[in-house]
Amino acid sequence: MTHAPKLTDPSDLDGLRLALAALDPDQRLSPLGIARIEISATAHLQVLPAVKEALATIGKTAPSAVMILTDTTPILRAGERLSVLVERQIEVEFSTRTICLDDGHEKLHADEMVLAMAAEAVKGADAIVTIGSGTMTDVGKIAAERNGGLPHVAVQTAASVDGFTDNVSVILRNGVKRTVPSRWPTIVLADVVTIGGAPREMNTAGFGEAISLFTAPADWYLSFLLGLDSTFHPASLAMLQAAAAEPPHWSAGIAMGDAFATCELTRLLALRGIVSGVSGTTACLSGVEHVISHMLDLHHAARHEAIGLHGAQVGVASLVASKLWREAIETDLIRPERLEKSDLAAIEARIAKAFGHLGDPIVQECQRDAQAKHMKVASNWDKFENLAAQWKDHAASFDKLVAPAETLRAALRDSGGPATFQSLEPSISPQLLHWAVANCFLMRSRFNLVDLLDMLGLWTDDRIAWAVADVLEDVTQ
Ligand SMILES: [Zn+2]
Repeated sequence: MTHAPKLTDPSDLDGLRLALAALDPDQRLSPLGIARIEISATAHLQVLPAVKEALATIGKTAPSAVMILTDTTPILRAGERLSVLVERQIEVEFSTRTICLDDGHEKLHADEMVLAMAAEAVKGADAIVTIGSGTMTDVGKIAAERNGGLPHVAVQTAASVDGFTDNVSVILRNGVKRTVPSRWPTIVLADVVTIGGAPREMNTAGFGEAISLFTAPADWYLSFLLGLDSTFHPASLAMLQAAAAEPPHWSAGIAMGDAFATCELTRLLALRGIVSGVSGTTACLSGVEHVISHMLDLHHAARHEAIGLHGAQVGVASLVASKLWREAIETDLIRPERLEKSDLAAIEARIAKAFGHLGDPIVQECQRDAQAKHMKVASNWDKFENLAAQWKDHAASFDKLVAPAETLRAALRDSGGPATFQSLEPSISPQLLHWAVANCFLMRSRFNLVDLLDMLGLWTDDRIAWAVADVLEDVTQ
C-alpha cells in the first residue's frame, strides 16, 4: 500500500516536496531548499553528520574549515554549555573555530554592523554552524549568503519564531524591523531538550505566533478572492489547511518545557516557515492579528518605549481576529446591499486623525498605502460585489480556515503564555488596545477582513468594543 505524501511533516522534506509538486504543476512555488530538519531529543548529537551532509551538498569532504557562530547568550543543555557540546563533535574531523558575536546589547541586534561582522568572521570557512534563536539563525543565513552560499547548519535553541526554516531574515534597518531575502539553512537541528529549557516567554511567544495559523490564512484567501493578492497559491493554502486541521490541543506545558508540547510547537513553527518560504510571502501567515500587533509596535516605537514580544502580541490579537472572522462566517453580516466604496479623502482624514500623534512620516506612509489599496479595490469592484452576493458559499471555505476564539484562548492559556492584552509585557491599556484595533486596517496596503467590515459600514465602536471584550483583563479574570 502506498501512502499519499503528507503536507504536515516537516521532518519528511522529500514527502513534503512531492506533495507540493503535485499541487504545483506549473512550478510557481520557490523550491524548498532545506536538506533536512531534525526535531528530537537527540538532535544536538547530530551536528557532525549534519555538517558532513551539508558539505556534501557542495561536493566537499574533510578536511574543511567549519565556523561556529554564537552570541553572548549562555545556552545550556541539561547543565552543559551547548556551544562546547557542538564544538567537541565537529573538531573530531574538521578544523573548527567558534566566534561569539557581541554588539554590546544584551540580545544581539541583527543590524548592518552585526551582519557585516558575521559575514567577515566566516570568510574562508567551508561551512557554518549557528547556535541560537531566531536572530542568530537570521544572521547566519545572511553571513552564508554573503559568502557565496555556504552550507549552513542551524542549531535551533528556542521555539520563538518561525524563521528557522525559511529563506528570509528579519533585520534591523534604521531601528525598524524589516524582512529581507536571505537563504534557506541547509540543515536545521532542533533539540527539544535545549528548546524546552529556553526562557519561557520565548516559547510561549512562539506559540502565540503559531496560532495565527488559525486566522491569518483567511485574510490571505479573502484578499485573493477580491483580486488584491498575487502571491496566493492553492498548494500553500492546502498546506496551511492541513497544518490547521487540528486545533493545538497539545499546548499545555510549553511554558514548562514539556518535551511533547515543545516538539509539536517546533514542528508547527517549522511548517509555517516552510510555507511562507515556498510561497515567497509572509502574507499567507499575516492577517488582522498581525496588523494589530504592528499597531502596538508603531505606538511604542514612536514614543521610544519598549516593544513587546511579537509572538505574544500576535497570539492575543489572534483571539480578536478569530472572533471577527467567526462572526462573519456564521452570520449574514456580509450582504451586497451594505457594500459601499470607501471615500479616499475620508480615509486619509481618518489616517491623519488616528496617526497624527505619531508624526508626519508615519501619516504620509499610511496615506500612500491607503491610496494604493484604494486604487486596487476600485479596479476589482466587480469581485467585491460577487463576493458579497455569494457570501454563503465562501463562508463554507473560510469556515475551514478559522478556529473559534474559545478554542484558541484555551490553547493559549494552557501554553502558559499571556491571553489578555493587559498581561502582555509591556501591558496594553484598554484605550491603547481600542486605538490599535479600530485603526489597524489603516496602516497597510494589504487588505483584510477589517477593511471589508469598514466598507460594509460594520466597523463601529460597538463592534470593536465587542471584539476586544474578552481579551481585556477585567472580563477574563
Ligand atoms: Zn508573525
